[in-house]
Amino acid sequence: MKHVILIIMDGLGDRPNVELDGKTALQAATKPNLDYLSSHGTTGLMSPVSFGIRAGSDTSHLSILGYDPHKYYTGRGPFEALGLGIPLKPGDIAFRANYASVMNGKIIDRRAGRIQNTEDLSRELETEIDGVKFIVKSGVEHRAAVVIRGSGLSDMISDTDPHSVNSQPVNAKALSPEADFTASLINKFLERSRKILAKHPLNQKLVSQGKLPANEIMLRGAGKIPKLPSFHEKYGMNGACISGTPLIRGIAGLAGFDIISVEGMNGRVDTNYSNIISAAIRSLEKYDFILINIKGTDIAGHDKKPLLKKEVIEKVDSVILPLLKLLPDTLIVVTGDHSTPCSFGDHTGDPVPILFATDGIINDNVKTFDELSVSTGYYKITSNDIMPLIMSYSDRSEKYGA
Ligand code: ZN
Ligand code: ZN
Repeated sequence: MKHVILIIMDGLGDRPNVELDGKTALQAATKPNLDYLSSHGTTGLMSPVSFGIRAGSDTSHLSILGYDPHKYYTGRGPFEALGLGIPLKPGDIAFRANYASVMNGKIIDRRAGRIQNTEDLSRELETEIDGVKFIVKSGVEHRAAVVIRGSGLSDMISDTDPHSVNSQPVNAKALSPEADFTASLINKFLERSRKILAKHPLNQKLVSQGKLPANEIMLRGAGKIPKLPSFHEKYGMNGACISGTPLIRGIAGLAGFDIISVEGMNGRVDTNYSNIISAAIRSLEKYDFILINIKGTDIAGHDKKPLLKKEVIEKVDSVILPLLKLLPDTLIVVTGDHSTPCSFGDHTGDPVPILFATDGIINDNVKTFDELSVSTGYYKITSNDIMPLIMSYSDRSEKYGA
C-alpha cells in the first residue's frame, strides 16, 4: 500500500486572463515539476461537489475527503466558526454574528461602521449562563462568531438579526419546542451583552469621536457542529493536515486528522512553501495520508491578480521537486478545491485540473498540467470520486464482488 500526499491548491482553476495573453494562471506558469507529475500519471478535470456547483472551500473539502456535504454541511455558522479557529466539538451550536449600531432602539448600521479590532468586545461578552458556555470570537471588521457549548442545546433558533436597518433588534425564537431552553439562553446572553457593550470604553470612545458604536451583537445562521465519521475508520489511513487556513484545519480536525504546524506557514501568499513540503515528507514516517492546502492561489483569484496567481503556482512548483523521488511508493494527487478565476474574483462552477501520479500506473499522454491540457486526460469526475480513486491507486480498495 502506498502513502498518499494530496495537495489542494485552493481556488486553482482559472479562466483566460487579458494580462496573461488570454491564458489561465496554470497555462502561463512555468511549472516543470507539476508537468512532470502529470506526465507520470493520470489526469483529468474534477468538478467540486458536482458539475457547475460554485463550491465553498468547506463544502468542497468535505466532499474531497469523502464526506457528502449534503449530509455533513450544517451551514455557514458552524463552518465560519471553524474558520475563526475556535476549537469546536461535535454538538456545539455556532452562529455567525455581526456587531451593529443601535440608536433609540433601532438598528442604524448593521455593520457598526465597519468597526475594526473588536477582540476586546468579544472577550468581554464571553460568559457562562445556566451551565452553558458562550464563546465569542471576532472576525474581519464587524464580523464575529458565537458558539455555545453545553447539554440540551438545539440549533432550531431564529436569527436575532432583522436583516434590515431602522428595525428593532429581535430576540431569538425557538423554531421547535426542544429549542425553548436554547432560545432563552440566547436572549439572556443578548441582554447581558447590550449592557456590557453600552458601557464598554471602546464604544464610549467611538461615540465621543462621533462614530458609530458596536452596541449590539446580532446572531444568525444557527447550526450544529457535525460529527464526522473518522477518516481512519472510513479508509484505514492515518491522516495529517498541513494548512495555514483555520477552516481547513477545523474540517480536518473534525475528521480526526492530526494537525501539523509548520514554521512560517500563514495561509497567505507569502507563506513558507518549502517548509510545508518538508513537513509533509517528514510526516510520511508517521502518517499514511497527508492533506496539504495552499491558500495563495485562491487569494490571488479573489484579488483579481493573475500575475500573482501564476507566481504562487510557480513557487509551489519550485518546492515540490523532492516529492518526485517518492513516486515509487507514494501516490501524489494535485488539484484545487474549486476555481477562483482572476477575471471573476470569486469561486465559479468551472472544473479544476487533477492529477494522480505514482509509479506503475497508466500515463494518459497529458504532459502539462492546466485546465485545457488535462481535458484530454482520463477523467471527468466530481470530488466524490477522489477518495475511491485514491484508495484504488494506493492499492487499498477492497474488491467489489467475487
Ligand atoms: Zn477554497
Ligand atoms: Zn475563496
